Amino acid sequence: MSAFDVTAEYADIREGVANVCAGFGGDYWQDLDARRAYPKDFVDALIREGYLGAMIPEEFGGSGLNLSASSVILEEIHRNGCNAAACHAQMYTMGTVLRHGTEEQKAKYLPGIADGSLRLQAFGVTEPTSGTDTLALKTTAVRDGDDYVVNGQKIWISRAEHSDLMVLLARTTPRDQVSKKTEGLSVFLIDLRELRGNGVEIRPIKTMINHATTEVFFDNARIPASSLVGEEGRGFRYILSGMNSERILIAAECIGDAKWFLKKGADYARERVVFGAPIGANQGVQFPLAKAQAHMMAAEAIVYRAAAMYDSGLNPGVEANTAKMLAADASWEAAEACLQTHGGFGFAEEYDVERKFREARLYQVAPISTNLILCYIAEQVLGLPKSYGPQRA
Ligand SMILES: Cc1cc2nc3c(=O)[nH]c(=O)nc-3n(C[C@H](O)[C@H](O)[C@H](O)COP(=O)(O)OP(=O)(O)OC[C@H]3O[C@@H](n4cnc5c(N)ncnc54)[C@H](O)[C@@H]3O)c2cc1C
Repeated sequence: MSAFDVTAEYADIREGVANVCAGFGGDYWQDLDARRAYPKDFVDALIREGYLGAMIPEEFGGSGLNLSASSVILEEIHRNGCNAAACHAQMYTMGTVLRHGTEEQKAKYLPGIADGSLRLQAFGVTEPTSGTDTLALKTTAVRDGDDYVVNGQKIWISRAEHSDLMVLLARTTPRDQVSKKTEGLSVFLIDLRELRGNGVEIRPIKTMINHATTEVFFDNARIPASSLVGEEGRGFRYILSGMNSERILIAAECIGDAKWFLKKGADYARERVVFGAPIGANQGVQFPLAKAQAHMMAAEAIVYRAAAMYDSGLNPGVEANTAKMLAADASWEAAEACLQTHGGFGFAEEYDVERKFREARLYQVAPISTNLILCYIAEQVLGLPKSYGPQRA
């Protein structure tokens, strides 16, 4: 391992994660994919080994690892052909409670999230009519005595059916009554176990990937006022404060995917003989893989630079967003090269390539689309007019 590998110190984490993943090969994921089933055994194994409590401080029962180490965990899951999307939110969604919750909320929830007995997998921000324009969301939470009453609809809320708790962003002050457009939204930590069938309905959405994503409907759902996280009206900034770490962690997953595709593609190119020679002897097959390898290495460097900046206490918005975009592009380029290298076999389920190909496509859109990252870089770095957000309206 090179001295220039900034993740070298996490070699034991890589090995531990790879050991867990070894028990969940292609057959396991193919079967789940066909049944559109949740990878419960895989998630339980990660919980048992403590990986999903990685970022929770030790005083609350977690491992207290930094973002770089946590990124290595997710990268390694994907590099081994598995998929962390079923559970990665358990790792970072709790950050909202950790940073902005009361001591009572932290003591009540974090130990359970750390040991997996409480599943905080769901993050309810996106709505059908507002999309990326979060400040236009319409779900309301209105104070009524010791409760808030929630009405509205969320969409693409992943893992809600497999989650005990959900971080919910809702409007507590009407948009036309706030002095700043970023005010008036609040964050709640709500208990889905009590609410399902009692004001909350969760409906699965069938998608091109096995992602357990859903629509969530709120119809006069009563939640205790104690579910409010931080101050009422400041929820938008709380959600934003968690986005850099989320972008970096997702980017690390993309790097893991890219490495999986590149290994799979190169192995096949060495083995598959056509016209009396391995197809990998042809530059037409080599070059797309080599180019994707180069782009993956460049993206990997910025991902771990962004993580190191975050760990040193900086707020690397530009680096985190750039990392997410470049890593998503690198994984998609590697996916394309790998599938093309496999020819017709790239379409056969038993090779896993088509499944990973579908999964890798998501990161061009979620959790933030490539265009919106470009909008952000154009504005923040290049000083171009803002083309998104409240200033545009
Ligand atoms: C499988 C899946 C899982 C998800 N999980 C969750 C979850 O758990 N919780 C959650 O809250 N959300 C989740 N999302 C939602 C995800 O974050 C959004 O889909 C994403 O942010 C894009 O929003 P949208 O789909 O409404 O697209 P829109 O905002 O409608 O945008 C559509 C297209 O227009 C482009 N666009 C929009 N505005 C501009 C602009 N100003 N300039 C240039 N281009 C623009 C976008 O880039 C995009 O390509 C998930 C989505 C998917 C597909």
